[in-house]
Amino acid sequence: MVIERAGFRCESPECANPGFYAESHKGGPVLEVDHVDDLQFKGPDHPANMIALCPNCHAVKTHAVDGDRLRRLFAVVVREQHANAMLDDCPGSSPPSAP
Ligand SMILES: [Zn+2]
Repeated sequence: MVIERAGFRCESPECANPGFYAESHKGGPVLEVDHVDDLQFKGPDHPANMIALCPNCHAVKTHAVDGDRLRRLFAVVVREQHANAMLDDCPGSSPPSAP
C-alpha cells in the first residue's frame, strides 16, 4: 500500500534523484518502506507512519546528522500522503463538479 501510495517513487521532498526508478529482481520498484517513527521507539506500524524511500534517502534519514529533522519532515509528508490516499479510496469524496 505504501509503495502504491507513493506512485512507485521516493516520497522524500528532498530526494536528490526525484523520479528515480529501478526495477527490483522481485518485480516492482527498488524502494524501501521505512517507519518514520521507529518501531523500536513505539512508532505505530501503520501506513500513516510509513514512507517509501529510495535507498539513498533511507540511508540519509538513518545515518545523517540531520536525521531527526528529516524524520519530522517525513512525518508531515506521510500524514498528508496518507490522508490524500484515503480520500482517493473513498467513493463520493470528490467535490461535486460544476453544472
Ligand atoms: Zn529519495
